[in-house]
Amino acid sequence: MTKFVFVTGGVVSSLGKGIASASLAAILESRGLKVTLIKLDPYINVDPGTMSPFQHGEVFVTDDGAETDLDLGHYERFVTTRMGKVNNFTTGRIYQSVLEKERRGDYLGKTVQVIPHVTNEIQEFIKRGARVGEPGAADVAIVEIGGTVGDIESLPFLEAVRQMSLRMGPNNTSFVHLTYVPWIAAAGELKTKPTQHTVQKLREIGIQADALLCRADRRIPDEERGKISLFTNVPEWGVISMWDVNTIYKVPRMLHEQGLDGLICDKLRLNTPPANLQRWDQLVHETEHPQGEVHIAMVGKYVDLSDSYKSLNEALRHAGMKNHVRVKIDYVDSETITPDSISQLAKYDAVLVPGGFGKRGIEGKITAARFARENKVPYLGICLGMQVATIEYARDVAGLQDANSTEFEPQCEHPVIALITEWQGADGVVNRRDASSDLGGTMRLGAQSSDVSKGTLAHQIYGDVVTERHRHRYEANVKYLDQLRQAGLVISALTQREQLTEIIELPQDVHPWFMGVQFHPEFKSTPWDGHPLFNAFIKAALDHQSRGGKLKAVA
Ligand code: GLN
Repeated sequence: MTKFVFVTGGVVSSLGKGIASASLAAILESRGLKVTLIKLDPYINVDPGTMSPFQHGEVFVTDDGAETDLDLGHYERFVTTRMGKVNNFTTGRIYQSVLEKERRGDYLGKTVQVIPHVTNEIQEFIKRGARVGEPGAADVAIVEIGGTVGDIESLPFLEAVRQMSLRMGPNNTSFVHLTYVPWIAAAGELKTKPTQHTVQKLREIGIQADALLCRADRRIPDEERGKISLFTNVPEWGVISMWDVNTIYKVPRMLHEQGLDGLICDKLRLNTPPANLQRWDQLVHETEHPQGEVHIAMVGKYVDLSDSYKSLNEALRHAGMKNHVRVKIDYVDSETITPDSISQLAKYDAVLVPGGFGKRGIEGKITAARFARENKVPYLGICLGMQVATIEYARDVAGLQDANSTEFEPQCEHPVIALITEWQGADGVVNRRDASSDLGGTMRLGAQSSDVSKGTLAHQIYGDVVTERHRHRYEANVKYLDQLRQAGLVISALTQREQLTEIIELPQDVHPWFMGVQFHPEFKSTPWDGHPLFNAFIKAALDHQSRGGKLKAVA
């Protein structure tokens, strides 16, 4: 039988509920349990696909093509269970489903209400997320409820999980509440009052937390923990201190040492071997003892919010650990890059142009790709980064001066990147789109495979087949492939059915390491193995550094 842990948050957002949930899941997995995670988002958008990464951070994409909250990225990086469409849903998605049922007449003429119809629907979605009743059902599902207790919009979710715990009985569900204990410098004190209030709010709704994870910039002394316990009715061993650490890999051990997993397993009557967090200790050791450093320029648009590139940052760090170096990432705003200011990139060991949408900053990205190509600086272009490298090559080497993407210049003479109208998804279904299709439903999404040409850099990295996740609307235009090939561009992977370009590169005798990929490899990187493409990219950056590449590029 699947048991549930509900994780709620109080006082303020951004306390690290996703990392806390993923860490608890990782500890439970190390105790031999099959664990999954589900994220509930209280906003009305049906999914985060159309939301600005400025506001919401990265959109994480799963194998089955779901556009999800970035917390699912943490989940996949912390546990072995793969996430999918069922692991993340929003208020909008719940209402969509309730309204469809209402239109079909499923409610048999009843008045459709938040309780019970919406709350029942939420419970159904949670069970589906945990695969209850299916062969792959989890032993424990950790359900992270987005938002902050006290907000109007998260109320139906909290009500639904309260009902669920009532229905399932006390030893089948558990509640963990994340709260904030601020340090007031003027008084020289940690303040427990916000925690007292948020727990009161939770109890008003009928939820009694089994554990409180108390976020603070420092360790919370026992005296304050005792005080919190008294005011919140949570036993002292359930009041767990979660202080700031320099790496997220320290969080599983921090929670385990204070007995969080023991407490949860007791509550849920789960008899398991003890936790084994050795691999986490190794990660921490690797992070804290690098043998060198590489400096990467990430040339993008959303440069002021690193959450927009969460998985990418993580993937680069993982690859750093694999290569035993610290990866320093500088976010370079592509709008500041012009042919006159391009020398600002000379100090880096490699250049990366990540995914993105819209015209703003495009010429700067194209200039960055040109700089990397001409100066033999390692270049990795991801999705949009592959498209700008293609445009750059078409303009400067293949002689197609007006080359562009129809995303930025619909009437350009040489649309080397264009909208294709048809492609086949992983499930074999043929999808169609055109310029007027809904923004929410026209992307090439999720995992697809293609063959990799032998003798290429891509083949050294991936072997015969590459399977990666996609999230984009535009593609390299098949009509120009021959012309680009004749000009020396290597197309190292194409999809089997539509001949869509998946990977481009430069021959290794022309450039030591220059690649563009149409997919998003960062979604599949883990701290354990890194990712072959990023591992190779960081290795190339190191090689460039050891060749004294920076100096050569300036000259
Ligand atoms: N804007 C481009 C497209 O839609 C690239 C998308 C991306 O980088 N994810 O094809």
